[in-house]
Amino acid sequence: MIRVKRNNDNSDIMKLSTDILDRRNIIDLLATEGDARKTLFETAANVRRENVGNIVYFRGLIEFSNRCHKNCLYCGIRSGNRKVLRYNLSDDEIVNAAMFANDNGYGSIVLQSGELKGMQFTKRIEKLLKRIHIATNDKLRITLSCGEQDREVYKRWFDSGAKRYLMRIETSNQILYARLHPGDGKHSFKERINCLNILRETGFQTGTGVMIGLPFQTTGDLADDLLFLKNNDVVMIGMGPYLEHMDTPLYRYRSQLIPPEERLDLTLKMIAILRIMMKDVNIAATTALQTIDKLGREKAIMVGANVIMPNITPGLYRNDYSLYDNKPCTDENPEDCKTCLEARIAITGNTIAYGEWGDSAHYSS
Ligand code: SAM
Ligand code: SF4
Repeated sequence: MIRVKRNNDNSDIMKLSTDILDRRNIIDLLATEGDARKTLFETAANVRRENVGNIVYFRGLIEFSNRCHKNCLYCGIRSGNRKVLRYNLSDDEIVNAAMFANDNGYGSIVLQSGELKGMQFTKRIEKLLKRIHIATNDKLRITLSCGEQDREVYKRWFDSGAKRYLMRIETSNQILYARLHPGDGKHSFKERINCLNILRETGFQTGTGVMIGLPFQTTGDLADDLLFLKNNDVVMIGMGPYLEHMDTPLYRYRSQLIPPEERLDLTLKMIAILRIMMKDVNIAATTALQTIDKLGREKAIMVGANVIMPNITPGLYRNDYSLYDNKPCTDENPEDCKTCLEARIAITGNTIAYGEWGDSAHYSS
């Protein structure tokens, strides 16, 4: 049981069951301040320690191509942004990055790109998955994050050795989704959900998530997002603040956004509440959090997150995977990121689980 005082008002104490939170409870928790906020964070930290331990898993993130046929209105690498220098890592560069992860005990990698479709892309990923498994003696858990694909494509990639897939729904509010994407037939909320279901049916450990602090988004939307995650029984979750990019259509709404420090606070509360609602899932401390606050990821770990995705994309390409303005670590090489992360995680009192796949306890349970 968590006792929550809303807005620091002693007369307004709610008793909430820590795992059966309804929409109203969540909205209240998202508004907590002062002692009540502290209680929320402490409860989440306890739930995390008891259920997944004070352990952080690393996923080496390889942003292998910024080519994309989609045009999401918030994303810096959308196809309509002609200012982006498009790149596509060679197969050797990707396999080398995977070997770097393996040699450094990361246990797991994420291959992420813009959304590309077609037989050539399908076969390329298949070939890469097989090459990486051979080069690393099957030691790496491989996650893909390459957007919406047909059932057969997902099946081929699963059979070639990818066992996890990340695809955010961005928001659970279908109307808001439509405002964040062009109505050109390529950006359908229903299709996104359909793909998530197919991924699960195919056997993938499926991850999803949302952006926080989007224009037009309400606290009720965020509560619905958490309920969506809980009801859909996902095992990996990545939630980060929405960050504006000046070369995107959504930039024109920047004056309507909540300030960055409030976006950070809301994201931390979302993570804390999610940890209380979904005790044994893997929750990522996202790079976007680090952009909004230099210690944003560490703060997320302290309130419930247990996964960090060090960027191991070769430094040369990082500036061109700019989803939002001021993305951090774009000038650094993978070794720099590893060293700085080790020091950062030590401050949170957590241990890095080197050499482990770090499957979600929820998946294996
Ligand atoms: N193309 C794939 C897809 O969309 O699923 C994977 C790569 S995409 C760049 C990964 C995630 O980046 C998106 O799901 C979205 O949540 C996030 N993202 C894109 N633009 C963002 C922004 N301006 N602020 C915060 N996150 C953003
Ligand atoms: Fe492409 Fe993903 Fe960016 Fe949308 S969010 S434009 S699908 S890279």
